[in-house]
Amino acid sequence: MSTTNSGQIRLEGEKRKKANKKLITSLKQRTPGNLDNQVHALHEEVFAATDCLDCANCCKTTSPAVYETDIDRLSKALRMKPSEVIAKYLKRDDEGDWIMNASPCPFLLEDNRCSVYEDRPRACRTYPHTDRKKVAQLLDLTYRNSFICPAVQQILQKLELSLLK
Ligand code: SF4
Ligand code: SF4
Repeated sequence: MSTTNSGQIRLEGEKRKKANKKLITSLKQRTPGNLDNQVHALHEEVFAATDCLDCANCCKTTSPAVYETDIDRLSKALRMKPSEVIAKYLKRDDEGDWIMNASPCPFLLEDNRCSVYEDRPRACRTYPHTDRKKVAQLLDLTYRNSFICPAVQQILQKLELSLLK
């Protein structure tokens, strides 16, 4: 059952907007040498205590980019032709990438599970990208995700506190 509200998450992001922006700016200006390790450790800590099935806000409010390999995988799983997957579920975004044609995602179930979980797009698997290498190159994305993902919000708050020590 969903216990997390998209509006509340957005509001929390807005409340922390100034502090997060300041943190991101300072990390860009003086990137700690161990930033990847710090953020990856916080990612593990925060997600160990996060149940995404209580949230699903990423699936409800934003779409992953869907690449050809994703479309091929989905088409096999759904027993549809790639062109049918595109026609039924996808549209182009402003940059010309395929994204889901609806929000919430058409594959999101009532109980927040993903109906194509084993075959979901790669970007769904890696969201919110806080365990990827070269965190410093993803700071703007992480900032944007702080308005969507409560786990990112926590990671940034914890990072801010640890940098103040
Ligand atoms: S990744 Fe973030 S936004 Fe998505 S379900 Fe998990 S906590 Fe929520
Ligand atoms: S495909 Fe699944 S994991 Fe990806 S956005 Fe849709 S519901 Fe979420």
